[in-house]
Amino acid sequence: MNRRRILIMLLFFLVLLPVVFAINTNCGEAQTQPSKLDWNALDEEALGYFRTYLQFDTTNPPSNTAQAMAYIKAILDKEGIENETFESKLGMVSLVAKIRGPGGKKPLLLMSHADVVPAIASNWFHSPFGADIDEGFVWARGAIDNKAHGIMALMTLLAIKRQNILLRRGVEMMINPDEEAGGANGAQWMAANHWDAFDPAYAINEGGEGEPGWLGNKNITFLVAVSEKRVFWLHLTVNGHAGHGSVPRPDNPNLILVNALHRLIERQPDWRITPIFAEAMESVAATQSFPPSFELDHLSWPFMADLAVKGILRPYDIRALMHDTISLTMLNSGYKVNVVPSEATAAIDCRLLPGTDSDMFLRHVRDLLDDDRITIDVLQKPDEAEPSPTSGEAWDAIKDVVARDFKGSSVVPWMTTGGTDSRFLREHGVPSYGFVPIILPPSEIERVHGDNERLSIENLNRGIRATYDLTMEICGAKQ
Ligand SMILES: [Zn+2]
Repeated sequence: MNRRRILIMLLFFLVLLPVVFAINTNCGEAQTQPSKLDWNALDEEALGYFRTYLQFDTTNPPSNTAQAMAYIKAILDKEGIENETFESKLGMVSLVAKIRGPGGKKPLLLMSHADVVPAIASNWFHSPFGADIDEGFVWARGAIDNKAHGIMALMTLLAIKRQNILLRRGVEMMINPDEEAGGANGAQWMAANHWDAFDPAYAINEGGEGEPGWLGNKNITFLVAVSEKRVFWLHLTVNGHAGHGSVPRPDNPNLILVNALHRLIERQPDWRITPIFAEAMESVAATQSFPPSFELDHLSWPFMADLAVKGILRPYDIRALMHDTISLTMLNSGYKVNVVPSEATAAIDCRLLPGTDSDMFLRHVRDLLDDDRITIDVLQKPDEAEPSPTSGEAWDAIKDVVARDFKGSSVVPWMTTGGTDSRFLREHGVPSYGFVPIILPPSEIERVHGDNERLSIENLNRGIRATYDLTMEICGAKQ
């Protein structure tokens, strides 16, 4: 071998090999570090998807999500993101999409629902399914509840896929129908029939956002749902004798029912301060002056809850979290003014705190009604889901993202008065958190299930960013 050939070989090893190696590792191989994203372009793209998604009328009933899910599926297919749809009943379609991580580690689930409650168009400034942009808001039924969260999950998956990021934990999104009717044909059906299709380590769902001025707090408070009140619906029936309205009788079914309901409603169940509520109030106490600070710190002391509900805990939606509640929601009887009907019925919406024994509660209701002529039928039994922990990887990640993306805001573990699909995951032991990273004052929250629901484009953008950040915190490679 002459010196010239040795020189050429040396040159090859020193210069060309590293170049060839670099080309190989950058071609099609996953990245551990995300490249810089063009957030402006992503936001603009998301706004287009959001508006089209809102324009599908997915009113529940009938909760037909087939076309809306076909639309989201087409976006995922175009990006090459693995996905699958499931149909529980005609038109009730769920969608699961995923970017896999290493085997053996369960993924993070970003969950939302596509169905919406009905909207009376004549009460709205804009068409409920027009998704018009006005005053910096997108106006549509479902803008907050809960289509925006679906778009935040979608954009997160798109951003991860496009950057080809190597995950240490997979991420998936699931969108369900039927949440607004209890989820029997949506998340509950998926959990019962297709658990293996998503089987997550943690779930992030609706149920909590950032609220300015909550309980007098100057900063924004993120109420992150770790639990919810449990639905217990009862139907009451009294049968008696029909008769002439001109002859009052004490066995008139209306009288029996009204008197019994009066005994029941007059006395709501006692206060019971759950550990979740106590923890939340202790964190609020630190932001208050005396005496509310003392009251909130000692809510389990006798009479302290009575004092607090006259002051700082006056709002009804907060009181509802301090006891099992009974709401009289339906009364049905009679068909003519001069006829005593043979039947009178009522429905009562009870919501139980975590830990309340439903059999004991039913006995309590029966005792208060105190009339054997009343038949009680259980319309829906409460779930037995345990609250999710306020510690661990997912909880810590939520706190980190709020600290980073919403500087000066606090995180409070919370319980919702209404039910969400999270309970079907908690029943499987999956820590599930109600956390949509947007900021909503009460005046905007009131529009949910009301008229003129809307979401600001600013909120949509910050929600996408924070959902992505949260996902990277839980699923991305450690720095
Ligand atoms: Zn919802």
